[in-house]
Amino acid sequence: MNKNKNVFDNVLQLVGNTPLIKLNRMTADFDGDFYAKVEAFNPGHSSKDRIALHIIEEAERQGVLTPGDTIIETTSGNTGFSIAMVSIIKGYECILAVSSKSSADKIDMLKSMGAKVYVCPAHVKADDPRSYYEVAKRLHEENKGSIYINQYFNQLNIDAHYNTTGPEIWDQTDGEITHLIACSGTGGTISGISKYLKEQNPNVKVIGVDAYGSVLQKYHETREFDDKEIYPYRIEGLGKNLIPTATNFDAIDRFVKVTDEESAHTAREISNTEGLFVGYTSGAAMQAIKQLQEEGEFKPTDKVVVVFPDHGSRYMSKVYNDKWMEDQGFFDSKRVVQSTIEYIK
Ligand code: PMP
Repeated sequence: MNKNKNVFDNVLQLVGNTPLIKLNRMTADFDGDFYAKVEAFNPGHSSKDRIALHIIEEAERQGVLTPGDTIIETTSGNTGFSIAMVSIIKGYECILAVSSKSSADKIDMLKSMGAKVYVCPAHVKADDPRSYYEVAKRLHEENKGSIYINQYFNQLNIDAHYNTTGPEIWDQTDGEITHLIACSGTGGTISGISKYLKEQNPNVKVIGVDAYGSVLQKYHETREFDDKEIYPYRIEGLGKNLIPTATNFDAIDRFVKVTDEESAHTAREISNTEGLFVGYTSGAAMQAIKQLQEEGEFKPTDKVVVVFPDHGSRYMSKVYNDKWMEDQGFFDSKRVVQSTIEYIK
């Protein structure tokens, strides 16, 4: 079929080639031009479509996967949704072990896409048999003919972004990008894009966004895994309680940490000011930009690209829910960005 006429053989042909959209209001007083790589334009509404498709097609090329086989993964939701989508088109069974921190919407979406879902407790150590890593490993061992995507420890996760997201950003900025700002979870996005960009221009500055309660920033600075850094936080998909091998720490110049509260407000602000309905980690990445601007990181001639990993619809029971925001204590007297609803009786 003819892609130029916007006709496709199946939904997977729409993965990647997401738009780069200039931010006009939030960064109006900042130094430099700011552009968002809006990954919600992928058919599965997140950047994870790219890795799901790449890893599964690589397994097919190597002959490890044949139709009817099972694909297993641990996921905070987005990767699961993308794997479920690819599995439907290609005819695989999909089993997902998710953290209990994932929103109810995300879990319901996975079910809607035909996946079998195991919900595992969030606040246990990674080596606890109840953790989603251990549950996925066990299911993989029990299921003959299954593959375990293992996105935190799979080099193909980096390669997916090296092959697609990196070249797209380079091309979309005509090679003029000076800074990349991206959240780090598995680290695949930031590491893959960074590798490509730095091969083109080693001066591109790559800044990772981490959560308070995660070990990544400290590990980057000291190469020491410090479990005293670990405590529960709310943002899903950002930061980690272990060191993923899908993160190339040498490809990242520095990390910035952001809070749950600021990130939540900033996500709402992006929707309200730029008209881009994006997820919690997009708020986190944008919050990092605010902090970097305060620090004087940018020059007026800079071209900054920030990755917005997913769509706001995945957070209707969290960031975009006033009750949830209130329950977290996120509405303070100064910054009430509550939505207005008037009921006509
Ligand atoms: N944002 C969201 C919503 C995510 O699900 C993830 C993946 N865990 C990330 C950001 C981080 O991307 P990566 O895993 O490639 O570092």
